[in-house]
Amino acid sequence: MRMSKLFLRTLRDDPADAEVASHKLLVRAGYVRRVAPGIYSWLPLGLKVLAKVEKIIREEMAEIGSQEVRFPALLPREPYEASNRWTEYGPNLFRLQDRRGNDMLLGPTHEEMFALLVKDLYSSYKDLPLSLFQIQTKYRDEARPRAGILRGREFIMKDSYSFDVDDAGLEASYQAHREAYVRIFDRLGFDYVIVHADSGAMGGSASEEFLAVSETGEDTFVRSPGGYAANVEAVTTIAPDPVPFDGLPAAHAEQTPDTPTIATLVAHLDEAFPRDDRPWHASDTLKNVLVMLRHPDGTREPLAIGVPGDREVDAKRLEAAVSPAEVEPFDEKEFAANPALVKGYIGPGALGADNASGIRYLTDPRVVDGTRWVTGANEKGSHVIDLVAGRDFTSDGTIEAAEVRAGDPAPDGSGPLELARGIEVGHIFQLGRKYAEVLDLKVLDENGKLVTVTMGSYGVGVSRAVAAVAEYSHDDAGLIWPKELAPFDVHLIVAGKDETVVAGAEQVYADLVGEGFDVLFDDRPGKVSLGVKFKDAELVGVPTIVVVGKGFVDGVVEVKDRATGERQDAALADLIATLRA
Ligand code: ATP
Ligand code: MG
Repeated sequence: MRMSKLFLRTLRDDPADAEVASHKLLVRAGYVRRVAPGIYSWLPLGLKVLAKVEKIIREEMAEIGSQEVRFPALLPREPYEASNRWTEYGPNLFRLQDRRGNDMLLGPTHEEMFALLVKDLYSSYKDLPLSLFQIQTKYRDEARPRAGILRGREFIMKDSYSFDVDDAGLEASYQAHREAYVRIFDRLGFDYVIVHADSGAMGGSASEEFLAVSETGEDTFVRSPGGYAANVEAVTTIAPDPVPFDGLPAAHAEQTPDTPTIATLVAHLDEAFPRDDRPWHASDTLKNVLVMLRHPDGTREPLAIGVPGDREVDAKRLEAAVSPAEVEPFDEKEFAANPALVKGYIGPGALGADNASGIRYLTDPRVVDGTRWVTGANEKGSHVIDLVAGRDFTSDGTIEAAEVRAGDPAPDGSGPLELARGIEVGHIFQLGRKYAEVLDLKVLDENGKLVTVTMGSYGVGVSRAVAAVAEYSHDDAGLIWPKELAPFDVHLIVAGKDETVVAGAEQVYADLVGEGFDVLFDDRPGKVSLGVKFKDAELVGVPTIVVVGKGFVDGVVEVKDRATGERQDAALADLIATLRA
């Protein structure tokens, strides 16, 4: 490919809407181009990288015997109605109607379609196990499309599905996929972790995510010295043992003027109601936070969440806990409509189905029977002290919504947690029989009895992976592709207008291509300065740059490593060997 012909315009400036490096560089280097928020076109360079990621995935899927198919993105409503996802996906689903008024959707993921396809063609246990996959465009009307192709509204996913007659079969299919994913992400060169995941709207049981470790990732994960690793959404809190009620002091409401925040409250408690044993701590208080849930069918429901006052409610943990409902703020209008709620002084006494507000009240798992709390007295400027859970109030259940902090104990007892961030590049689920049941996917077993098939579902964010690679492999000057993913093997630059040099570069180009190298040849005429050529080469990020310049007459060219910046002179005669090495 000649640079003079390549459909490419590199940009010197970052796109205005770009915050993360991969987004800036992939646009500036001409790999992708924005069409609308979260919707991108792939240009020639980008498409080549994408194809290389796909190739690795196809090879590893073939390795575990998974066969490729391809579904349409445009799908009928009925299968998604049967699984309830037509409703559950809520505003995340792109919906449309055909000319006859039939409801259609653009597929966000294809569990239903694969289950129906297998039901259509297979009927016996002898046909199973089966594993099918596709690499295909998905559509999700994401609430927050961001970071370019990291989170698109149209994106490319590899999704596979396994079909087994029994649980042991599903376990084996799941493990095979897990191992294939390990090989895929090793080959992509990711520094990644495999974490327990919250299976969210997918349902099902066992589920793990592959997170590429990256500061810009949207997922927070935890790990412990003992090997526990989980997405923060999946971390469960160790509840303390209940405390017997006997001997606990009676609750007493006190005047605590001007204490609408936890910090002002704790300061006031230390001054007006000092403890004998130690100062008051924020974790002695119970903070009640209100949110509005929007259910997939559009109905709205207020929810109160009680967490120890030293912790915030974590938006992503809350979202995962209430999914498929979405979380909206509880605004002033809502407060005004609920006179039982005294902002800044809300306590359990006003919360829960049986109390004044009638608002559902869920508490942190640490709020076990016998624990004593300072919390709102539902009166301006007043708090209750020694309000005992289980004795003085009960909630409508527990919720995992409080933030997880570094140093918190791992749920499996394997030590204190540390926190880091990652980009979700893969996700594997043991779906079980949820989809097979509603879509009636059954086969005859050995005894001629109909049994429901058990399924697994496994995704890789193919387009996201390209951005994730760019995220970990770049510098200020541009992208730095690993060899296996680079759009070209060699970026060849002709430095100078001298006829011998130009003819020499043409010869080197022909030789390299003849030897099987995929070469991007910057043959642009002399009016494009050498500085511009070098800048473009660094931005585009091909791992090896070869410069044919003045040294050519002495049989010498320069070879530069894009990643390390190292330059070396190579004798023309040895160029092929140098590049191979
Ligand atoms: P996320 O939590 O990032 O929204 P998800 O859990 O909803 O992702 P899955 O349903 O597990 O996504 O989809 C499988 C894979 O598809 C993900 O692991 C991710 O790599 C990729 N993916 C999901 N949503 C997007 C998106 N909006 N843009 C690009 N890739 C995506
Ligand atoms: Mg996921």
